[in-house]
Amino acid sequence: SLVVTGATGSLGRHVIETLLAKGTPADTIVAAGRNPERLAELAARGVKTAQIDYARPETLEGVFDGADAVLLVSGSEVGQRVQQHANAIAAAVSAGVGRIVYTSAPRADVSELVLAPEHKATEQLIRESGIPATILRNGWYTENYVQALQQARETGVVVASVGDGRVASASRSDYAEAAAIVLADESHVGKVYELSGDVAWNYDELASTIGDIVGREVVFRSVTPEEHAAILAEAGLDEGTIGFVVALDANTRDGLLAETSGDLARLLGRPTTPLREGLLAAI
Ligand code: NDP
Repeated sequence: SLVVTGATGSLGRHVIETLLAKGTPADTIVAAGRNPERLAELAARGVKTAQIDYARPETLEGVFDGADAVLLVSGSEVGQRVQQHANAIAAAVSAGVGRIVYTSAPRADVSELVLAPEHKATEQLIRESGIPATILRNGWYTENYVQALQQARETGVVVASVGDGRVASASRSDYAEAAAIVLADESHVGKVYELSGDVAWNYDELASTIGDIVGREVVFRSVTPEEHAAILAEAGLDEGTIGFVVALDANTRDGLLAETSGDLARLLGRPTTPLREGLLAAI
């Protein structure tokens, strides 16, 4: 069987849909996640389901038994993920799974990206587990910019402290399709893929693309990190969130999300979804 964790989330759900569309028998797919309503929706598609919580090892017992491959979708609770992922990896070891595929972050082993340390630690745990593995270092989702689009629809500006930084984003569905391809094919064992969009766009291009979509002039207002923090504070964001957003913009300015390795398009056998199409599909 093929097990997909995070199946109740956007990426995992899409992986399941892709596997089904490729003709994978539904009863050989296990969709694992926390949210019971979403699990019920998945069960209605004929796949097996399992309610799991990475933080509660007892919920992981038996879930991976007999799995040819497990897609471990990184959790969303930043700060708790190393222990959570360690629990999932330990369960995979106990179950003797054939392979593991993990959704990581760009250059997780060496990157200064604020989110990289948990991914680096997880990759390390996977290596130490001895389970044959494939690492999918997912770049940024185009969907991450939908909020900027919605704001610019009202204000006519995209405000950010990214300077001339570029982002090689791709649609979440592109990453999901690649994950399904890798999960179903053992020839990817041992590989580390740097997945990202074919085009690294800058924020002037983001603003003009958004302008085209919302039908008004939209410009990029480039601010310093200090100005950015003040604007976010004015908007009522808490200190932790402000620090995170400004740090991520600094990472973007430093080019950490800009790599265009071509790995994603090669896995898909087609170009990645362009920014404009990705935004249009997401709104
Ligand atoms: P979602 O937030 O839609 O989904 C997250 C999934 O992780 C859900 O299925 C959620 O389960 C599951 N999850 C979270 N915590 C736990 C836990 N403790 N135990 C079991 N399952 C858990 O994110 P996406 O699907 O869009 O993205 C997948 C992952 O990619 C994210 O979790 C995050 O690590 C990363 N990400 C990457 C981005 C990028 O631009 N590259 C952007 C955003 C996230 P449930 O909903 O049932 O609670």
